[in-house]
Amino acid sequence: MAVPQRRISKTRKRMRRTHFKLNVEGLVTCPNCGEMIKAHHVCPKCGYYAGKAQYLNGKLVKPEEKKAAPAKKAPAKKAAPKAKAKEEAPKAEEAK
Ligand SMILES: [Zn+2]
Repeated sequence: MAVPQRRISKTRKRMRRTHFKLNVEGLVTCPNCGEMIKAHHVCPKCGYYAGKAQYLNGKLVKPEEKKAAPAKKAPAKKAAPKAKAKEEAPKAEEAK
């Protein structure tokens, strides 16, 4: 039923219009990188589909190489403190 415009308060009008919104359907989260991607499509960000690297723009995407580089640095940093700890341990025993 038609209601005069001035009879509907600004708040009431705005409350009603909170439900006027668009839904983005068909987007899912990439299980590999977490990016929002089209369902059943190769991820344009990481090139993965169904948990495997796929061809993207004519190139085989190999994210494993990118992951391997930081992994090599991490153990080196961890190994260094252990070596220092071993060196310090004998000194502490000698002091006693
Ligand atoms: Zn991805």
